[in-house]
Amino acid sequence: MLEIDAKRLPLVSAYDNDGKRKPFTRFDVGTVTIGNDIVVIAGPCSVESEEQIMTAAKQVKAAGANILRGGAFKPRTSPYDFQGLGEVGLSYLKQAGMAVGMPIITEVVDTRDVAFVAEHADILQIGARNMQNFTLLTEVGKSGKPVLLKRGMGATIEEWLHCAEYIVKEGNHKVILCERGIRTFETYTRNTLDLSAVPVAKELTHLPVFVDPSHALGRKELIKPMSLAAVCAGCDGLMIEVHPEPEKALSDGAQQLTGGEFGTVMKAIKECRNLMTSMEE
Ligand code: PEP
Ligand code: MN
Repeated sequence: MLEIDAKRLPLVSAYDNDGKRKPFTRFDVGTVTIGNDIVVIAGPCSVESEEQIMTAAKQVKAAGANILRGGAFKPRTSPYDFQGLGEVGLSYLKQAGMAVGMPIITEVVDTRDVAFVAEHADILQIGARNMQNFTLLTEVGKSGKPVLLKRGMGATIEEWLHCAEYIVKEGNHKVILCERGIRTFETYTRNTLDLSAVPVAKELTHLPVFVDPSHALGRKELIKPMSLAAVCAGCDGLMIEVHPEPEKALSDGAQQLTGGEFGTVMKAIKECRNLMTSMEE
């Protein structure tokens, strides 16, 4: 058993006071079950227009994705970069999700927006830059909506788990952990994908663990091999950025796949998953 200060993480710890393992968390988001089989979240980095998100939704649905993503409130490094379409963007995302019959996930960056985003989105995303925004964590906890919590780029696994504890402490058990790469001395990739975080977090907690290779790698050619590696590491799901025209994207162009490229990655993910299942039998 790995070390964890279970007393300080009573709700997210995998073990109860008697050292007995708790069951893995499973919950439904619309017709999608989280914590059962691999769930794929896909869509553009940002919602840019009604047509762009609708096209992306159709493409990722056709390729077999389960949940549609799209940023409406964007946390950008520079204040002069595209900040997202805000409320209008979320309405386009909702429309696209309804059109293809997929639940939607979007990031919420401000406590003042939680009620609005929770009213329209099926899953609230807490971005890496806000992982330790404790008032925001408390608010999304109170919303009762499923929350996907990205690991901060400079956060240890334990710090990440404490943030999940903040959400669950508000009575919200629907939390997904998402590894999205951490800062190291390596510069070839945007971040370093810490795949060891998957089996570690799954050992320490009962929460589902997803992997976002797009923000971790920052380069589209690395999405397929690292998605497969994440599946082999035991992740419960993936988040992959897909854009109808990545070269024209208003954010994260270099890491977004076209619908066709995403289709190829999805096929490989399914084959890899089947292989893993046959090995477990
Ligand atoms: C995102 O998923 O849109 C995003 C900004 O990711 P991260 O918070 O991991 O950088
Ligand atoms: Mn992005």
